[in-house]
Amino acid sequence: MEPIGLKNKKKMRNILFIVFFILVLLTIRIGYLQFFKGKELQTLAYEQQVQERAVNAKRGTIYDATGKYILAVSSTAYTVSVNPTNIKQEDKEKVTKALCNIFELDYETVLKKVKKRSSIETIVKQIEKDKADELRQWLINNNITTGVNIDEDSKRYYPYRNLASQVIGFCGGDNQGLDGVEAKYDDILSGKAGSISKATDAVGKDIGTDGENYEPATDGESLILSIDMTIQSIAEKYLEEACIDNKCTDGGNIVIMNPKNGNILAMATYPSYNLNEPYTINNEELLANWDNIEQAEKTKSLQAMWRNKAISDTYEPGSVFKLITASSALEEGITDTDNEGEFCCTGSITVANARIKCWRYYRPHGSESLRQALMNSCNPVFIGLGQKLGVDTYFKYLNKFGLLNKTGVKLPGEANSIFIKQEKAGPVELATISFGQRFEITPIQLVTAVSSIANGGTLITPRIVTSTINPTTGEVTELPVEKKGEVISKETSEKVLSMMESVVAERNWKKC
Ligand SMILES: [Zn+2]
Repeated sequence: MEPIGLKNKKKMRNILFIVFFILVLLTIRIGYLQFFKGKELQTLAYEQQVQERAVNAKRGTIYDATGKYILAVSSTAYTVSVNPTNIKQEDKEKVTKALCNIFELDYETVLKKVKKRSSIETIVKQIEKDKADELRQWLINNNITTGVNIDEDSKRYYPYRNLASQVIGFCGGDNQGLDGVEAKYDDILSGKAGSISKATDAVGKDIGTDGENYEPATDGESLILSIDMTIQSIAEKYLEEACIDNKCTDGGNIVIMNPKNGNILAMATYPSYNLNEPYTINNEELLANWDNIEQAEKTKSLQAMWRNKAISDTYEPGSVFKLITASSALEEGITDTDNEGEFCCTGSITVANARIKCWRYYRPHGSESLRQALMNSCNPVFIGLGQKLGVDTYFKYLNKFGLLNKTGVKLPGEANSIFIKQEKAGPVELATISFGQRFEITPIQLVTAVSSIANGGTLITPRIVTSTINPTTGEVTELPVEKKGEVISKETSEKVLSMMESVVAERNWKKC
């Protein structure tokens, strides 16, 4: 035998060195995978082996005050998703074509999803049953058993279309409330989604029911609104007529409230829109030209259409505000309803060198009691009462009537009033406020303030939702009426109500 020569020894050492070098490289690689990429790879493996899909909760129904009319309801719809790794390479284009044909989708967009290296991709949401059935049949015909999921979902439907649209609001593609009651009560209506998670082997095949975990969804609660379908319909009908007859280019609104409990029986905004198509503009001129309008302009027009004018728009109330001045003055004991000749209208009144006219300056009202002044809507009388009250007392009543704060009605987008600051209000500002001019309030603020006169003197938070219904037990939970406090005494309230009746029931004026 030939001894290992020097040449061979050298060769062996070289081989050993190479093996050692490879081992070092491998160790570094393992270390890198373990310490630097470990988390990422683990997630990838989990995503390949466990697929989780949401089980949507059924959104609660919205009823009108009588409980007879359904204003918003969720009907069954379907969501189609794919698990790209579970679709065979040779089937990917075929599946994409079928999805695009059935749901009228863009081929490139869908193909990208079907080829993506992810565990789940949503293809289309809120589709009707017939379309879902069509896809199901295609999958059977083409013997595709994995990778395409058809899951039950729901779609919001508003049976009365435009009715109370700005109050009810609408939902987005994930059934999330985006406006109105749908948005404000989203937590209560939406419930809690459940899930199906499924473990599969490395190539995405099911590994049996052991790997399946089903967590049921908790359905949302239903709501009963204070809105009465019949009263709302009547209010909307007459509002539309009035807006058209009077050419109100900026639309209009009506609020009807039960003063005893703050229930809003009707809240109408004109023009309304179809809740089933909230992104279709309700203006024919804009609609005809829609494709040529800039996105920012489109958004602005849609937001204006969705706007609940009764709570989001401010306006100058005018003479109806004399009720607030009269109530405050009666409560402070500086006047009474029927003191004959207590006031005298000469057609105008001078306040800090400014002459403020009565609306009937050309034929002054003459001698009046408070009742007669209210019936005549005589400006100088209420300016005089404002002066007697003074800025501080007057603002105390504005605050008590809730006119310096939002009412707190549970709807999105409530605006606040715009008054001059108390410390900046001089005699002229006080004079104009006293008969309802040069400040702005929302319709809901005025209705709430006047309701406190009508109910015996208590300020109540207006409300839109009166009760909730448990989806499982059907149990109805009444929501509490929120009383904010006494504004005026019962006695004052009765006096003002009696005068309000006279305004519509009698006509009266005398000369001084
Ligand atoms: Zn007058």
